[in-house]
Amino acid sequence: MATNGNDISANGAASETQPHSNGVPVRPQQFTFSPGPTMEDIRRMQAEFTDERDWNQFHQPRNLLLAMVGEVGEVSELFQWRGEVAEGLPDWTEPEREQLAHELSDVLIYLLELAEKCRVDLPQAVLRKMALNRLKYPASKVHGSAKKYTEYKD
Ligand SMILES: [Mg+2]
Repeated sequence: MATNGNDISANGAASETQPHSNGVPVRPQQFTFSPGPTMEDIRRMQAEFTDERDWNQFHQPRNLLLAMVGEVGEVSELFQWRGEVAEGLPDWTEPEREQLAHELSDVLIYLLELAEKCRVDLPQAVLRKMALNRLKYPASKVHGSAKKYTEYKD
């Protein structure tokens, strides 16, 4: 099953694009996520974390949204004033990479908790949205172009 250029392997990990016969360039280095924890695992771990601290009373959808946006700001700070950054972050130190991992995790944790509190089954919603994206942006029509779908003519 191909999704936006990434293939999903049997263990659920995304692997980078392999060479295509039509000459699409191959990404220079392969990177994949670990198969776990799943989104549901992370949702459950965060629910336990908040229950143990009696923080659920503060975690309404709007508060979670604002917290997530704050964490996106913390990710942005790490990229601020650096100019363009190459894929793989070759010039970053290990402490900088670890800080980025922390802040991206904060964003994901709040995103998953926000989805939970809004009763959005995010893994399934992602599948539906990617199917819509494939319809909106047929590879044969948009290959190599960054235009928005509204700019394409039939
Ligand atoms: Mg943070």
